[in-house]
Amino acid sequence: MVLIVLLSAALFLFSVRTFKQHSTEMMIDMLRQQAALFRPVMMPLYIQGKYDELDSLVKQTGAAITTRITVIAPDGRVIADTEAAPRSMENHGTRPEVLQALSGSIGSAIRHSATVAEDMLYVAVPIYENERIAAVLRMSLFMHDVTRLIDRFQYGMLWIALCIVCTAMIAAFIISRRITRPIRMLDEAAQAVSAGNMDARVFLDSNDELQECADSFNVMTEKIKTQIQEITLRRQELEHIIEAMHEYLLVIDDDGRIMLTNRRFNEFIGSDDVRGRFYWECIKEPAFGEMVKEVRTTRQGRIAEIALDGRMLLCSMSWIEQYGEIIAVCLDITEIRNVERIKRDFVVNVSHELRTPLTAIKGFIDTILDEEEEPSHRKYLEIIKRHTDRLISIVKDLLMLSQLEEERRLDIEPVELVQLVEQVRKIYEQRLDEKGLFFDLQADPDLGHLFADRFKLEQVFINLIDNAVKYTEHGGITVSIKADGDWALIVVQDTGIGIRQEQLGRIFERFYVVDKARSRQTGGTGLGLSIVKHIIQQHGGTIEAKSQIGQGTSFIMRIPRRSSAG
Ligand code: ADP
Repeated sequence: MVLIVLLSAALFLFSVRTFKQHSTEMMIDMLRQQAALFRPVMMPLYIQGKYDELDSLVKQTGAAITTRITVIAPDGRVIADTEAAPRSMENHGTRPEVLQALSGSIGSAIRHSATVAEDMLYVAVPIYENERIAAVLRMSLFMHDVTRLIDRFQYGMLWIALCIVCTAMIAAFIISRRITRPIRMLDEAAQAVSAGNMDARVFLDSNDELQECADSFNVMTEKIKTQIQEITLRRQELEHIIEAMHEYLLVIDDDGRIMLTNRRFNEFIGSDDVRGRFYWECIKEPAFGEMVKEVRTTRQGRIAEIALDGRMLLCSMSWIEQYGEIIAVCLDITEIRNVERIKRDFVVNVSHELRTPLTAIKGFIDTILDEEEEPSHRKYLEIIKRHTDRLISIVKDLLMLSQLEEERRLDIEPVELVQLVEQVRKIYEQRLDEKGLFFDLQADPDLGHLFADRFKLEQVFINLIDNAVKYTEHGGITVSIKADGDWALIVVQDTGIGIRQEQLGRIFERFYVVDKARSRQTGGTGLGLSIVKHIIQQHGGTIEAKSQIGQGTSFIMRIPRRSSAG
């Protein structure tokens, strides 16, 4: 638009200036021609000195052709003039156009006339007589005639320029609107999408690149809309799952701030406004903080039981490497632990209550057996005695297990393993001899002391050797003790009946017996191996069993030489 206005203005100024120059030149030319025409008419009167006649001729002709005609003598005296009486006029010898004419050329000037008091265009022509300038014939036009013409031209040109500018403006407006309208539509739709209105679409029928752009925009928005719907759905699903969780859930960021919780956690804490707060503001229990720190430093998940506000929680913390976050899921196991405690208390109470009458029964049976001579009576009394013994050992094992679970403490002291095994061997010496079994002890002389609970470790060997003797008919028992780095590797091996592979995984369970009838006969309770496993785990060790039917069974244990447990 600016370009059009500037060009139009330049065109206007240039054409007006050219027209002005050209029209002035034409006027000068016309006045010169008029002078040439008038010369032969005036010359006779001038030469004859008929100045009055000349003056009236000048006045008539001048009026007829609307040109002021002045005849000036070479000395500057005005002889005749169309507009005024020559005698009243001042000497014109110094007028520039007259001076020019007197010097032999055609003089022209635009000046203010003192005679008519107006701007005039003058053209002065020298009149020769016998090759001598006899007079100057000056033709002049009122400038207002010239300027009127120029003004008319100027107005015309101005109108044309204005028309060009207006037309160009309207055309530019229409064209730019046609270009900008689709762009504006696209822009508005893009803004609507960014404000969240996924239904914004652009429909153009321009059949050009902009339409392609609009079509792509629509496809893109549709895809984004579907993806957002999908994400929202997934998110809602996740939120529902998290909300439906029975466990307490919280996500802790790198700085220890809570990023996410579920309703159950908020109910537990008693506040809905936990997001963004530090976890220690909500959970003051130091054990929880220590667990968080441990997970962060080791970058590995952990599971632990934590007592919190009178509840017992089983907390599982996972480390999310990608975000440096910790996800904590805590299950309230207070009720489970309570039930366990009640069960344990019940078992302990029942076992205690049973022990006294059972010992009394056993005592009386022994007394009756000593006195009874009748073989059939003795047979029945023997059966009663065997069952009473079995009941007593069940009660003893149950009490032992309950004790192990109750007291988590170990009385750690230096234990000489070889000595310990020897002691246990002595208990079973008679039975080994009865069954004709060998007992081999292979000990690593470098092992030295083991830091462990003597009484409990003795129980381990009693249970294992007792089983080995029970379930071995030929061959014998080998106990090997070796040092393996920081660990003591203990293997109790027999050449007995063996255990089937599918049962091997269950023998450490409580009350699990492979052969119920045999177990009843041998007085087994199914608790021996669970006691063994419990004690080994308390020491921070591991136990596994390997067996082959008819070949024998091995129990392989690893115990840290310097027990950190207890
Ligand atoms: P029990 O007091 O009945 O022996 P345990 O817990 O000690 O109970 O053992 C569980 C079961 O594992 C036993 O019933 C027995 O069948 C099997 N078992 C344990 N030790 C041996 C072994 N050395 N050889 C074969 N079977 C064994």
